[in-house]
Amino acid sequence: MAKGRVEINSEACKSCQYCVISCPKKVLAVGEAVNSFGYPYVVAANPEDCIGCAMCANICPDAAIEVWRG
Ligand code: SF4
Ligand code: SF4
Repeated sequence: MAKGRVEINSEACKSCQYCVISCPKKVLAVGEAVNSFGYPYVVAANPEDCIGCAMCANICPDAAIEVWRG
């Protein structure tokens, strides 16, 4: 199984949760902290399960997610 790494730009996240819903491995979740705009931003709750598919990055309307493969 391919391995991936996901990084979320917390200040760019608007907490829409599209990425949470789109992730086939349930890696992402809304965290408890809020960014400076008042949005509780998404974090990688299960980072070890990321396969680098980039579904989350592709669906994010605010380009808040970067994905690395390998
Ligand atoms: S790259 Fe794929 S597996 Fe990794 S967090 Fe994004 S949607 Fe989930
Ligand atoms: S899709 Fe983007 S803006 Fe929406 S919750 Fe995920 S990281 Fe935040």
